[in-house]
Amino acid sequence: MNHDLRLLHLLPAAVLVTQEGAIRFANAASMELLEAPSIDSLIGRLSGDFVHPLDQVRSTNRIQQVAVPEQAGRPNKSSEFRIRTERGNLRMVLISSVAIEWDGAPAVLMCGMDMTHQSEIEAQLRESEQNFRRLFDNMQDVYYRTDAQGIVQHVGPGVRRVLGYEPHEIEGRTAESYYPQSKDRDAFKAAIMEHGEVSDFPGQMVRRDGTVIDISISSHALYDHAGNFAGVEGIYRDVTQRKNLERELQRLATTDMLTGIANRRAFLECAESAYAHSRSNGEPLTLLMLDLDHFKTINDRFGHLEGDRALMAFAQAIKGQLRASDAVGRLGGEEFGVLLPVTTLAEGLEVATRMLHSIRALELMDDAGHSYRVTTSLGVSTFRQSDRSLRDMLDRADQALYLAKHRGRNQVASLETLGE
Ligand code: GH3
Ligand code: MG
Ligand code: MG
Repeated sequence: MNHDLRLLHLLPAAVLVTQEGAIRFANAASMELLEAPSIDSLIGRLSGDFVHPLDQVRSTNRIQQVAVPEQAGRPNKSSEFRIRTERGNLRMVLISSVAIEWDGAPAVLMCGMDMTHQSEIEAQLRESEQNFRRLFDNMQDVYYRTDAQGIVQHVGPGVRRVLGYEPHEIEGRTAESYYPQSKDRDAFKAAIMEHGEVSDFPGQMVRRDGTVIDISISSHALYDHAGNFAGVEGIYRDVTQRKNLERELQRLATTDMLTGIANRRAFLECAESAYAHSRSNGEPLTLLMLDLDHFKTINDRFGHLEGDRALMAFAQAIKGQLRASDAVGRLGGEEFGVLLPVTTLAEGLEVATRMLHSIRALELMDDAGHSYRVTTSLGVSTFRQSDRSLRDMLDRADQALYLAKHRGRNQVASLETLGE
């Protein structure tokens, strides 16, 4: 074997030399590729025997082409062929051929690389790309990516459903255009810059039709090779329904169902924060506690349902006397609380007296046309620096209310005026 042939044997690529279709030379790699028991067993065989029937015409054409004089010495462009090995296995082989001279006669040298594995990878890639596309096109969330300036580079098709825009209408514009409140966008940016990512970050966006929707964003910052901020990538979803439900739950949890005003818990929460506010800045704060007089008799005379109606009218009458910054809540059965921030005791007593009269003036009537009136007793307390907690203020209002009842009801009382 001459030196050149030894080199051919060492090549990792399969090499065959054929003359008039018959194999004259095969290297070790081609023996392996064709799964032949030995190199000798290949000599004399027709190379076409190993080509898959569906590729045979193409194979023959290409071999004939390299033999034409104009092509002399130039290999043809490599192309993939299905090969059937000696053991009957199918392989995808990338083959290139060139016309040579062998033992003084024209021959074709073929060089093949096994691409079976690569084809599998390609098929897998194609499949995973198809799966990804299907997922991407159908996902409920909106995928997006912006550059460092906040210009949208890419947005998923989900944006059609969520914002009512075509992706191309969004791409190239700043994400800010869709935020009704710039503070939302600023808070989002600050969080991304600080933590590098955000999860379930709340915000709002405006749809093409002008409606404002609640969204939740989960995103992370992108950095370039030098570690510089390069943009943001993530998803957002329409959570309006969830938010509406949350708002409704919040409303139910904080509202008294009968009167529509704050319930005890919500009122006390509000009172706690007003108390903390006064404690820190010394602003006056006055609290009223109201309890309907002889309410049992209303129920007894007109029935529980009419009692309920009286409670609703009562709550409305109190509300009618309040400023926007004041708060009212139902503390229990027919007991109510009123919080008057930035209000001195003297001002609070005035408000209480006004309420007393407006309740007295209420004309109520049951289903049968019987009219009746109600009265209320009020206890007033005001914030003192010496108070240890809101409880102290509540207790004084409660005691004052008891005092008003004790003194004959239908009146206002306060421990503070008595110097206690
Ligand atoms: P006073 O406060 O003047 O001492 O007398 P009162 O009759 O109002 O006495 P009390 O405060 O002890 O009774 C409150 C009554 O209010 C008892 C209860 O039947 C009635 N009540 C409590 N909650 C409701 C309600 O939601 N609807 C109706 N209709 N009645 C209620
Ligand atoms: Mg009562
Ligand atoms: Mg009561």
